[in-house]
Amino acid sequence: MNYDIVIVGGGPAGLSFACSLKNAGIHAAIIEKQPLESLSNPTFDGRDIALTHQSVRILKELDVWRRIPDECISSIREARVLDGPSPYSLNFDTRGESIDALGYLVSNHDIRKALFEEAQQIENLDIHTGTAVTSLTTAGDMATVVMADGQEFDAQLIVAADSRFSESRRMVGIPATMLDFGRVCIVCRMEHDKPNDSIAYECFHYGRTLAVLPLKANQSSIVVTAPMSKQDSIMSMSEAEFNQDIQTRFNNRYGDMHLISKRFAYPLVGVHASKLCTTRFALVGDAAVGMHPVTAHGFNLGLSGQEILAKEIINALDKGTDIGDSRLLKRFEVRHMLDTRPMYHGTNEIVKMFTDDRPPAKLLRKLTLRLANNFPPIKHVIRNKLTESQSGSSFLPPFLR
Ligand SMILES: Cc1cc2nc3c(=O)[nH]c(=O)nc-3n(C[C@H](O)[C@H](O)[C@H](O)COP(=O)(O)OP(=O)(O)OC[C@H]3O[C@@H](n4cnc5c(N)ncnc54)[C@H](O)[C@@H]3O)c2cc1C
Repeated sequence: MNYDIVIVGGGPAGLSFACSLKNAGIHAAIIEKQPLESLSNPTFDGRDIALTHQSVRILKELDVWRRIPDECISSIREARVLDGPSPYSLNFDTRGESIDALGYLVSNHDIRKALFEEAQQIENLDIHTGTAVTSLTTAGDMATVVMADGQEFDAQLIVAADSRFSESRRMVGIPATMLDFGRVCIVCRMEHDKPNDSIAYECFHYGRTLAVLPLKANQSSIVVTAPMSKQDSIMSMSEAEFNQDIQTRFNNRYGDMHLISKRFAYPLVGVHASKLCTTRFALVGDAAVGMHPVTAHGFNLGLSGQEILAKEIINALDKGTDIGDSRLLKRFEVRHMLDTRPMYHGTNEIVKMFTDDRPPAKLLRKLTLRLANNFPPIKHVIRNKLTESQSGSSFLPPFLR
């Protein structure tokens, strides 16, 4: 064997998984098709990632959190959800809780940079960059990857973290359901006159949605979700037009707003793999489940999934058993699926309800916000999902966590 484990994809999920195994005493490799420079020095891609307390706990345990400068971490102390032009909002805050934030915002490139810095220090980890995996075979006792540059590696286990459009997933024949929302997410950063008071807004306006997420120093991360047909017109607006458009749609809450970054467009496609493992092969990150960003759970699920798999592998190493054993992989699949399935389908239902502008759906939206606001158990479940720090799903019975 060349390696114990080969990880396909050096994005946030693949790098986190490698970091989780740093003390396991195994010989691992990451294969990443992008050049080394884009891993070691990633540039701003418009995404500010909302991290739950559980994700922060994992990143701390991986020694990655300390690598993110304080000025790059912003707290979300309160969240408000609005529907249509109504000022009525569903509110979440930390009152009565022992925590001071619902979650934290960190830019995707800062997360990637910190993960890469940590991964680079791992002695028994080889990072092969600038070459893609082009073929993959798995058999009873060994798996093999072939790369575009002709190199070939054998391993006991292959873990694919190669994005929601995972080629590895296809190569081993794992089907996935894909939901093309026909919408695009346009993200950027803006500066404004008034402070944001660490409040996150999710405004489900009719036709498009606008999220305004609090960064430091009178800055916010802006997420516009609109039908795909509107992408060109929004992206080609002049800066002045765009500033005015967002300011008006946000009801002038923060006074004058202006762009301080480029705009980035991400077409929205949700993906859920029908299985998370097969012979000597497992899926983590977006390759397992690629979420619509409205519930901000894509990377959070990626982190929790890789942690479940890493713990299973560390257990097997402690017992001296096979790290590619099918029962081990199945246990990972069952546990992670209990988290991903409700989150994926629940998120898609929220998207469906809040993008349907027919009168009955509008009424349902209003009732939902009022019911959630006035029925403490619903708020409690949602808030818990953001603020729990322990591994394991809140959907899991306690004995499985
Ligand atoms: C607008 C937007 C906002 C978001 N906001 C949030 C949020 O608030 N909270 C949250 O938790 N998540 C959020 N997400 C989701 C989050 O960004 C993703 O879940 C996360 O980046 C996925 O990481 P990954 O490593 O699984 O995949 P990716 O980041 O897609 O990385 C995959 C890597 O695999 C490599 N690769 C692909 N194919 C091959 C191959 N054949 N060989 C070798 N390498 C290969 C790619 O080059 C890439 O580096 C958001 C996403 C978007 C688009």
